[in-house]
Amino acid sequence: MSKQSKEDRHNPKFKHSDEFHHHKENVTQESGRCPVCKMKVDSNNYFVEYSWKTLYFCSEGCLQKFKIQPWDFFGDHQFDLIIIGGGPAGLTAAVYASVSRINTFFIANDIGGQAIDSTKVRNYMGFDFISGKMLVDKFRDQFLEKHYLSHKIDDVISIEKQNESCVITTKSKEIFYSKAVIIATGMKKRKLGIKGEERLQRKGIFYKSVQDINLLEGKNVVVIGGGNSAIQTANDLLSNNCNVTIVTQGRLIADKTDVDRIKQRQNIRIIEEHDVMEISGEEKVQGVSIRPEQDRDRNPKTIPCQGVFIQVGFLPNTEFCKELVDLNEMGEIKINNDCSTSTDGVFACGDVTNNYGKRIVIASGEGAKAVLRTRQYLKEIKKKV
Ligand SMILES: Cc1cc2nc3c(=O)[nH]c(=O)nc-3n(C[C@H](O)[C@H](O)[C@H](O)COP(=O)(O)OP(=O)(O)OC[C@H]3O[C@@H](n4cnc5c(N)ncnc54)[C@H](O)[C@@H]3O)c2cc1C
Repeated sequence: MSKQSKEDRHNPKFKHSDEFHHHKENVTQESGRCPVCKMKVDSNNYFVEYSWKTLYFCSEGCLQKFKIQPWDFFGDHQFDLIIIGGGPAGLTAAVYASVSRINTFFIANDIGGQAIDSTKVRNYMGFDFISGKMLVDKFRDQFLEKHYLSHKIDDVISIEKQNESCVITTKSKEIFYSKAVIIATGMKKRKLGIKGEERLQRKGIFYKSVQDINLLEGKNVVVIGGGNSAIQTANDLLSNNCNVTIVTQGRLIADKTDVDRIKQRQNIRIIEEHDVMEISGEEKVQGVSIRPEQDRDRNPKTIPCQGVFIQVGFLPNTEFCKELVDLNEMGEIKINNDCSTSTDGVFACGDVTNNYGKRIVIASGEGAKAVLRTRQYLKEIKKKV
C-alpha cells in the first residue's frame, strides 16, 4: 500500500522542477479513471496527494510511473512487443510477456472482454463454478499486481508495418512502435439491423451484460437468438423472475443439455423458425414483431415486452487490421498453429482468429502460445540484426 510517504513530500520532483510546475496543472483524474492508463479505478489502495488533489491509481505500477515521470508516462513509445486486447487471450499474453521479461506495452479498450458477460463459467479449469466478473478480476489482479506492464485503456484504430516496425495508432491519437504485435481483440456482438434497433438503443435493447439482467426483474422479456449465449441469457432472466420468450430463426442450436434443461423451467416460451421484423415502442421498448419464416405473406404478430436481448452471434474485431493480415470469410484472422499470421512480426490469438473453439480456456492458452512464439521471433530478428 503506497500512501504519500515522507519521501514524496520531500521528493524534489514533486515540489521544485519548473517543467513539473508547468505540467502540474494538467494532471486531472477523469471520473474514476487512473491518470496514467485511464483504467477504471475500483479501489483506493493506490493514491498520492498531488497539487492539492488526491489522485487514485489502478495499481502500484501506475502510481510509481506517475511519480517517476508525471508528464510522459510511456517514454519514447518504442517497445519490443505490443499486445492489443483486454480479454482472456490478451491478459494471459500480458502475464506471459511480463514473466518472459519482454519489453511490452498493453492496449485494450476494456478489461475482461466477453468473459465478463458470462454469469456462470463452469468450464474454466480450477473452478467448479465462477462468475465471469470474478474470473476477470483475478486475471486483472494477476496482471496489475504481480506482472505489471505499461498499459493504456484506449482503442486501436490502425496498425501499419513500416520496414521492421509496427506502427499502432489509437483513438486518442497516440502512436506506439514495436518490433512485434499480438492481436487479441476477440469478438463484438452482431446487430440485427432491423427497424427500431438503433432508435431504441439503451431504451430497452440489450446485447447482454450482467448488469442489464438486474434492470429487468419481473418483466416480460424477448430473447432473440438460438445459441448458447441466448439460452444462458434466458436462464439468467428466468432466475430474475422474468417471463421470457425466445425467438429464433431456424431451430435452437445451443447445447442440447442446456436446451432440455430450460424447457423444464416455468415462464418460458420458445418460438422457432420465425423472423424478427421490428422492435417497436415510443420512448422505450414495448414490443417485438415476428413472422413465420415459412409464411412471409402473413402479417407480423407483436409480442408485448419491456426488454429485448439480441443474441445473434458475434463479429471478429478486425476492422483496424484488415489491410495488414489475411482474414477468412468470417472476417477472422487466419493463423498458423503457432499463432503467426500472414505478416511477419504480427501474431494473433483467441476468438478473433480462425482457431477452433471460442472458449475462455482456449483463448488463454492461445495467448500464452502467442507470446512464446513472439519471444522466439524477437530472438531471431535480434540475431539477424
Ligand atoms: C455471454 C457469454 C457467455 C460466455 N460464457 C462462457 C463460458 O461460460 N465459458 C467459456 O469458456 N467461454 C464463454 N464465453 C466465451 C468467452 O467469453 C470467449 O471465448 C473469450 O472471452 C474470448 O477471449 P478473447 O480474449 O479472445 O476475446 P474477448 O473476450 O472478446 O476480448 C477482446 C478484447 O479486445 C478488446 N478490443 C477489441 N477491439 C479493440 C481495439 N480496436 N483496440 C483495443 N482493444 C480492443 C476488447 O475490448 C476486449 O477487451 C462466453 C461469451 C459470452 C458473450
